[in-house]
Amino acid sequence: MSTIPVMIPWLGEEEARAAAEAVRSGWVAQGPRVAEFERAFAAAVGVPHAVAVSSCTTALHLALVGAGLGPGDEVVVPSLSFIATANAVTYVGATPVFADVDPATGNLTPETVAPLLTGRTRAVIAVDQGGVPVDLDAIEELARPRGIAVIEDAACAAGSVRRGRPAGADADLAAFSFHPRKLLTTGEGGMVTCQDGELAARLRRLREHGMSVSAADRHAGTGGAAVLETYDEIGFNHRMTDVQAAIGLVQLGKLPAMVARRRELAAGYRELLGAELAGRLVAEPTYGTSNFQSLWLLLPDEAPDRGQVLAAMAAEGVSARRGIMAAHLEAPYKGAARAPLPVTELLTSRTLILPLFHSLTAEQQERVVAALKGAL
Ligand SMILES: *Cc1c(COP(=O)(O)O)cnc(C)c1O
Repeated sequence: MSTIPVMIPWLGEEEARAAAEAVRSGWVAQGPRVAEFERAFAAAVGVPHAVAVSSCTTALHLALVGAGLGPGDEVVVPSLSFIATANAVTYVGATPVFADVDPATGNLTPETVAPLLTGRTRAVIAVDQGGVPVDLDAIEELARPRGIAVIEDAACAAGSVRRGRPAGADADLAAFSFHPRKLLTTGEGGMVTCQDGELAARLRRLREHGMSVSAADRHAGTGGAAVLETYDEIGFNHRMTDVQAAIGLVQLGKLPAMVARRRELAAGYRELLGAELAGRLVAEPTYGTSNFQSLWLLLPDEAPDRGQVLAAMAAEGVSARRGIMAAHLEAPYKGAARAPLPVTELLTSRTLILPLFHSLTAEQQERVVAALKGAL
């Protein structure tokens, strides 16, 4: 009996060929394919600018630098998120302040954010957790009059929709991940999107050591081969490679099919689980749709300990996963500033993530549900 994993990226010959072509071209570092991937991604999201980087973690780092965050500043973030959300705040010397989340979606709401705003709050990172679009508009309505920046952590949300527009489309700054645990993958990789051209130009310099003329432009002769670049501020090496971008271009073309398939599979789970258990799955908001990057289920109160449930499912060849982590429970953030986090603590300890990937079959879904029901 083969084990059903929680996620398998949907990669094929086309990606392999695209990567091989990049290698054969001799141009493997950031170059023409990265520029093309940026244009295609910006068009798909519906934003004027996209800046490709090495991961969503580095995308968040650049977004925070771009927003001018630094020591003494407070940034409200959900604790219920991959730890990179909070770590990016720490990288710039600012202080993460943890807010609780909505129990149905796992996302921040104006009600959970508002009590944490102080005179030192400079930004909120609104996460589209597990692909569920956060109510960015409501959080912006709260933050903007106070001069607080809102950054969308759309790591999981390529292909999710908010009010008829792609996740990230309306954010001043949004960060995406192309890790294989998300939908669209480049192995490792990320993207920052933004509305402002000058900010995009600065982010492009910052991802490349602060260089005034990019190495790609110099090599291509388009930046003026004779022009000496300058380094006007301290930047980073957050570049994506052309090999990754070549894969990303193929993956981006498949994104609509990925989302459609995941939504179909999520509906299949709802049916197989039956009304009572299906009612405990992550909910979609009224204003948008999820790409179901993570389909999580809150265990019934009377169910055994989650570790036992996961072990019983594993014994049946089903690899479910614990739910989203909570950063405030990890060593670096014990004692960090926060609201009471009862919903976060419930969701992080009592949810599990069901296997969901493009090639998952109906028969495998039945096995997953049978294993879950058996474990309960
Ligand atoms: C995965 C994830 C990240 C980090 O993405 P990487 O590309 O692995 O750096 C950040 N935020 C959230 C919400 C994530 O799920």
